[in-house]
Amino acid sequence: MDRIDLHIHTTASDGTDFPCAAAEKAARLGLRAIAVTDHDNASGVEEAIKRGRELGLEVIPGVELSTDWRGHKAHLLGYFIDAASPALAPALNWAVTEREERNAKMVALMQRDGFDISIPDLMEEFPGTVLGRPHMAEHLMRKGYVSSVKEAFNKYLADGMPYCLPKGRLELGRAIDCIKGSGGVAVLAHPLQYGHDEKTLLRFIDDAKLLGVSGLEAVYSEHSPEDEALVRRLAAERGLCITGGSDYHGTRKAGLEMGIGFGSMFAGYDLLEGLKKAAGKI
Ligand code: AMP
Ligand code: ZN
Ligand code: FE
Ligand code: FE
Repeated sequence: MDRIDLHIHTTASDGTDFPCAAAEKAARLGLRAIAVTDHDNASGVEEAIKRGRELGLEVIPGVELSTDWRGHKAHLLGYFIDAASPALAPALNWAVTEREERNAKMVALMQRDGFDISIPDLMEEFPGTVLGRPHMAEHLMRKGYVSSVKEAFNKYLADGMPYCLPKGRLELGRAIDCIKGSGGVAVLAHPLQYGHDEKTLLRFIDDAKLLGVSGLEAVYSEHSPEDEALVRRLAAERGLCITGGSDYHGTRKAGLEMGIGFGSMFAGYDLLEGLKKAAGKI
């Protein structure tokens, strides 16, 4: 079966592979198609598509939006998007500005406590990137304040820790409208990641469907076979399609390879065909 990976981060957000390198890696691994789904922006998409074309690799333009569902975090994947569309561009700009404002405030808090960190330093260290907490964590490690990224999160940057500030999130329904308005389809990323109890999970998925989501990410690197079966069943019961992706972040998620989940699970091209049907592309 032709393998695909519809959830890949590049240096456009917090992955470590440049977009062209991600395409090269996918081709080297023999994947037939990938989607570049950076957090809150699609600035890596064009380069990956271009390199993919040279390599005979299909690259789907995507994005992963941080959204809010009834006060809970919900990651939303958009596929076949047009990031320049007037339906989507303002939302992406807003998300990036939110992030920049949050980064500036977090860095100011750290500076006040004597840490040697600044936005210009981070931008120099991670060029062409939409900065986030993982970059700050690596900077703190490089400066010797902590001995690992894990320690940086545990001590300073994890949710609820002193230097983690909240950032505004798009409301789920609005984010779905933006993606669809740009010609794309919306899919709930890793729906089991939020620790919802069963009742909340069903409500989450039913709400998302009502709001216009077309699919659920069933094949996922952190899913057990039981998790995958559950998401497949929930999708089938609701007439939603399923997608699959690794959430590859390069060396920033150690041990997680592109195109391959844990164990023997992988996503086949049939999932992309289902998604294309949902998107009205075939
Ligand atoms: P941000 O988008 O700036 O809020 O950063 C979120 C990213 O930070 C996530 O995608 C994770 O990769 C990473 N992250 C969040 N919490 C932790 C944690 N407790 N330990 C390690 N990495 C984390
Ligand atoms: Zn990420
Ligand atoms: Fe995510
Ligand atoms: Fe992701």
